[in-house]
Amino acid sequence: QLPLASQSLIWQTVRNENPVAPEAREAILADPGFGNHFTDHMVDVCWSERGGWHRPRVSPYGPIQLDPAAAVLHYAQEIFEGLKAYRHADGSIWTFRPYENAARMQRSAHRLALPELPSEHFIASLKQLIAVDGDWVPTAPETSLYLRPFMFAKEAFLGVRPAKKVAYYLIASPAGAYFTGGVQPVNIWLSSEYARASKGGTGAAKTGGNYASSLLPQAEAYEHGCQQVLFLDEGKYLEELGGMNIVLVRKDGTLITPESESILEGITRDSVLRLAADRGHLIEQRKVTLDEWREGAASGDIVGAFACGTAAVIVPIGRLLGEDFEIVHNGPQAEELALSLREELTGIQYGRVEDRHGWLV
Ligand code: PMP
Repeated sequence: QLPLASQSLIWQTVRNENPVAPEAREAILADPGFGNHFTDHMVDVCWSERGGWHRPRVSPYGPIQLDPAAAVLHYAQEIFEGLKAYRHADGSIWTFRPYENAARMQRSAHRLALPELPSEHFIASLKQLIAVDGDWVPTAPETSLYLRPFMFAKEAFLGVRPAKKVAYYLIASPAGAYFTGGVQPVNIWLSSEYARASKGGTGAAKTGGNYASSLLPQAEAYEHGCQQVLFLDEGKYLEELGGMNIVLVRKDGTLITPESESILEGITRDSVLRLAADRGHLIEQRKVTLDEWREGAASGDIVGAFACGTAAVIVPIGRLLGEDFEIVHNGPQAEELALSLREELTGIQYGRVEDRHGWLV
């Protein structure tokens, strides 16, 4: 009898006989960049309608064999996650709120009609991979091992319906410091022509299609000298950036962030807002219009903004550029707040600051 999803899984490890040599690995870890290099192993777990989750294994990192008719290649039935493993001064390795990623992946799975991977299997996959590839977690300040869980429809069938065969994978990639030489404010391009998501769509799910559709507006942002793109809902409500959430800072210290059914609920944003609330800042999570930001910036009531996400943690926003207007924030208040929240959050992640919320696993 095949195991059901709720049953415990017996993991198998097939060691890579040709791992990257230690000297070559150290050379990569000295300057990994982002998303360029991968560790010696990967995880995969199969799912089928009949057998549930089964055959969890760690195996050598390498190409995946996929039938050309695999549903993911045609209908994009795919989801993913992103989190980091951090090395502490004593050499130990920690992840940050991974149960939140597990839960978000389950919500994404639900929306994309994929099976929900139970949290215990999600966490086990992280531990299994780190157990064999722990040496790939770099030690330099602000570096980490980026963990990329993903799941896709692998059934070879061209009918449009949820696949009956699915694969979950986990790969890992060493990540360098996002900012070398200090955190710099970013410029944001306001996309007025394109939307990222809409009511009833897949905006709240971490699914490849959302990112595919953000590439063209992102390219437009670069053309305008901006590093990120801001998307609106209904042409007037703030949503989020291509890969980060947004928070506005009021003069009185209140933090305002969009409430929306069509944005990705960031774990960084949730954590940052909790740290700010601990410090006594008021937090407003509600609909925010672009006009409110423009008028607040003009009157001096809104003193700045920042973006937040796993990759860059927190970045102050220096300028929002639209087709026919711009908002410039160059006062110190919001930037200082963003940087001090960043310092506290990374302090927790790297074990320099007490983890009073019990976020590390
Ligand atoms: N929004 C989008 C669209 C993202 O891709 C991300 C990155 N996962 C975020 C927000 C921030 O989420 P998190 O803080 O969990 O990384």
